[in-house]
Amino acid sequence: MSETSACPLCTGGGGRLVFASKLFRVIHAEEAGFPAFYRVVWNAHVAEWSDLSAEERALCMEAVAEVERAMRETLSPTKVNLAALGNVVPHLHWHVIGRFEDDSHFPAPIWAAPLRARNLDREAVSKQSLAALEAELVQRLRARSL
Ligand SMILES: [Zn+2]
Repeated sequence: MSETSACPLCTGGGGRLVFASKLFRVIHAEEAGFPAFYRVVWNAHVAEWSDLSAEERALCMEAVAEVERAMRETLSPTKVNLAALGNVVPHLHWHVIGRFEDDSHFPAPIWAAPLRARNLDREAVSKQSLAALEAELVQRLRARSL
């Protein structure tokens, strides 16, 4: 795999580490305005989803699903957005983003132009639940040996 020395997901963690396994890690993205924003990062430097084997894809998708489940259970977001873009950092990672109808961009994607001001009260409520979300997530991933 080329260009790993220039890749921020090879040279750094990419965010606050929540869970690490041999093949992937889960990080909190620490993006302003979206407190319930996690990424499932494949540890090896691959650009495209189809670079993984069928078994690897299944494992990665289950990890994404467990982030979503833990998020739904602890935060009850209006919607969970899943995205794998990689246009800026072509190292495979899934975005798992809890969305609320009163967040700054809803119902547009978080990468679109904002539609309203940030709801700091909502963000504070979400932030208070992140520790519970992450404890639930780690327990789920360990229980499934993902
Ligand atoms: Zn990389």
